[in-house]
Amino acid sequence: MSTPKPRTVACPTCGKAVEWTPESRYRPFCSERCKLIDLGAWANESYRVPAEEETPNDDELRSSGH
Ligand SMILES: [Zn+2]
Repeated sequence: MSTPKPRTVACPTCGKAVEWTPESRYRPFCSERCKLIDLGAWANESYRVPAEEETPNDDELRSSGH
């Protein structure tokens, strides 16, 4: 009764359920990866999920974001 379940939202990128809590740092995204994918999709004006063989370099993503 005193601890209600946190509400969840669907990750805009992959649709995974994300708890809307302070611990979910990248909400409404489930992870930093999904957040970067969404931002990149808007920047490129194309909304597609990268193919697995086109795995981006995580270090490049972080540095280019700043
Ligand atoms: Zn996601």
